[in-house]
Amino acid sequence: MLQNKGGIFLVSGKHRKTYARISKKAIRHNLQNEQARIGDECKLFAVVKADGYGHGAVEIAKIARDSGVSGFCVALLDEALELRKAGITEPILILGIVDVEFVPIIAAEDLSVTVSSLEWLKEAEQRLVQQTKALRIHLALDTGMGRIGFRTVSELTEAENYVTNSELIEFEGIFTHFATADEADETQFNRQLKQFNKLISCLSNKPQFVHAANSATALWHQQIPTNLIRYGIAMYGLNPSGTTLKAPISLEPAMELISELVHVKEIQPGDTVSYGATYEASDCEWVGTIPIGYADGWRRSLQGQTVLVDGQRCEIIGRVCMDQCMIRLPKEYPVGTTVVLVGKSGNDQVTMEELAEYLGTINYEIICGIALRVPRIYV
Ligand SMILES: *Cc1c(COP(=O)(O)O)cnc(C)c1O
Repeated sequence: MLQNKGGIFLVSGKHRKTYARISKKAIRHNLQNEQARIGDECKLFAVVKADGYGHGAVEIAKIARDSGVSGFCVALLDEALELRKAGITEPILILGIVDVEFVPIIAAEDLSVTVSSLEWLKEAEQRLVQQTKALRIHLALDTGMGRIGFRTVSELTEAENYVTNSELIEFEGIFTHFATADEADETQFNRQLKQFNKLISCLSNKPQFVHAANSATALWHQQIPTNLIRYGIAMYGLNPSGTTLKAPISLEPAMELISELVHVKEIQPGDTVSYGATYEASDCEWVGTIPIGYADGWRRSLQGQTVLVDGQRCEIIGRVCMDQCMIRLPKEYPVGTTVVLVGKSGNDQVTMEELAEYLGTINYEIICGIALRVPRIYV
């Protein structure tokens, strides 16, 4: 029941009792566990791109900061600016390529940015002449991800020489990204690691940060030479491999997705439910309607998946609509009864992994897809 939650909805200014409940304790637990494991020489940067993987970037950044992280990673300049605007003064690394015309903003806001080509550096230099602050950069190395970054020793050497000779650019870091750190087969990982070590060994001077670990690399390849970890999915308590590899530390999922029954009725044999009339009752059945649909990120293909009412599994029957969906109840339940779409109820639990498997995707995509109109409530 949501009887205690009225205040929360008044505070958030939303008037529908469908929400994502985010546990601050879980975020803290996940960060502190990892920091204890990696020791003090290695810095933990919390990855809060994509609105903190759907958990709310600013809120998560504040919780992470209070848990002692050294900095943050985002994907876009706009995401970095959102954090600065909210008063986050810690280092922020932008992991994606930013259009070079915006380098004055990056420098002025004390952000660090990823660089993938010499041309970008040269253009940046020209745009920085009016600037009082240097531009902090991290060189990306493409060791086999095939996405962004310098690929060869000669490319890297040219870039290193360029930044070393520049007064306006500060060579703060260098990094790579692994494509298969979450897989049991380590062949590709080791190939990338070898290439990373080769490229790093060609540097005349190592920058402050040499890094290569996302969550999966941090969890399953702790031996790699790195002094900064870009900790994303595992901070949110989700396993980067889904269910393939067991995490060496406990991960506590931070997000639950909760709604309630807004309408309950009994239907007769032969009655149908939702668009396309794809569901037909074979018996007298109790049906509950939940105010969440695909416009909330509760995907249309979740028809057939189960949610929890009173600790019991209830199937989503008929097509998921834009704003609502229907479930089959084991008996009559009052309007206002809590429905747990993701999370624990009684002795049972629906996990993001379960949804991801049902939808043929990964847990990352589910959490990032929860729409903005679903309020995030921090407990
Ligand atoms: C998103 C991202 C991360 C974080 O990855 P997780 O798997 O969520 O830990 C780390 N590094 C780069 C370059 C990324 O793009």
